[in-house]
Amino acid sequence: MASIFTKIINREIPSDIVYEDDLVIAFRDISPQAPVHILIVPKKEIATVNDVTAEDEMALGRLFTAAAKIAEENGIAASGYRLMVNCNEDGGQEVFHIHMHLLGGRNLGPMLAKHD
Ligand code: AMP
Repeated sequence: MASIFTKIINREIPSDIVYEDDLVIAFRDISPQAPVHILIVPKKEIATVNDVTAEDEMALGRLFTAAAKIAEENGIAASGYRLMVNCNEDGGQEVFHIHMHLLGGRNLGPMLAKHD
């Protein structure tokens, strides 16, 4: 079954798309955790980082090129931002189609929540 992000890529469900090229698409997260929260997604449906192969290197590299462009366009390149990729349960992954979170627009604080 197609992932929810493949459905966004195919325009089967609506989203606020901010960038698209031959290899990746980017759209605003439906539940933003920061003033700027954009998901950058390879068009190829790869479930998790564990499923990445060498043939995906071009598309996955493009995530960074796109991130830099989108950060600039959203005015957060100089102030800074965080790029995040979650994998499986302990990583907190909810959608099993690899995606990079681009978060910024405020100071994001420590990298991880503190736990005992
Ligand atoms: P992750 O936990 O890394 O798998 O992140 C999944 C992200 O996808 C979450 O931040 C969700 O808010 C976001 N999300 C889920 N469905 C949609 C959607 N239809 N459009 C935009 N973002 C979504």
